Amino acid sequence: MNIKAKKKFGQNFLKDESIKQKIIEAMPNDDLTIVEIGPGLGDLTKKLLEKEKSIIAFEIDVELCEVLKNSFEDELKSKQLELICDDVLKKWQKENLIGKRYNLIANLPYYIATNIILKALSDTKCQNIIVMIQKEVALKFSAKVGDRDFSSLSILSNMIADVKLLFDVGSDCFDPPPKVTSSILKIEKKRDYICDLLFNNSKEFEEFKKFLKIAFSMPRKTLIKNLTQKYNKEQILQFFTEQSLSYTLRPHQLSTDNYHLLFKKLK
Ligand code: SAM
Repeated sequence: MNIKAKKKFGQNFLKDESIKQKIIEAMPNDDLTIVEIGPGLGDLTKKLLEKEKSIIAFEIDVELCEVLKNSFEDELKSKQLELICDDVLKKWQKENLIGKRYNLIANLPYYIATNIILKALSDTKCQNIIVMIQKEVALKFSAKVGDRDFSSLSILSNMIADVKLLFDVGSDCFDPPPKVTSSILKIEKKRDYICDLLFNNSKEFEEFKKFLKIAFSMPRKTLIKNLTQKYNKEQILQFFTEQSLSYTLRPHQLSTDNYHLLFKKLK
């Protein structure tokens, strides 16, 4: 069947065999269920099934769902594969996407990649994440303090997980080729409950996210300038003096630990 890729669903099918193999090799060595978001034509799905993994796959495109049902008739019958033909974000209204612990593997549709990773980070059932996303976003998630790309995404992900950009993937590995370079990102959760040591409840965690949004609102201005839009200037300056920090620090130059301390002081 000749399937035309649909732009609105972010469809860029991975064609390069060696990259598919490298993604499979990067998977954690455990027997957890795999959640695949956007199986597309089923190329990665096939490789995961060959590795005897149990898979729950979410695909929004009804035309592709029909292709997948035909390709994986036996696996669907034996329940090694469960196919949910729907928008994964609709299914993710609650904290947990599925009722058991899982690893997420996906060549993500880029238009919702950041949103999906943030959801997976706060989903306590999700243990590990291996995803292909645009390189620019992968750099934001994996940056360390002082890197130009250090951002609220780096802080949130580093609090919960060890994050590594594994390797880049050129646009010629896809059909149709995307306009940007892609990267494989591996996120291994450090613990089951988000920031349990740092936050008393999820409301406080939401407040922390808002605080980071203000801190990084103008990334090239000083952190003090950004924060004084909303918080008490005297308290901010006091914190900088106590911690012997320069008043000219930019948002990407303050460590995750100092962000926590400053948040606790200002709230
Ligand atoms: N996994 C395939 C591959 O590697 O070739 C396809 C990857 S393609 C980049 C993204 C896939 O996600 C497409 O199959 C697309 O239809 C699907 N998709 C897009 N938005 C989705 C959503 N909200 N929920 C579930 N699947 C979605």
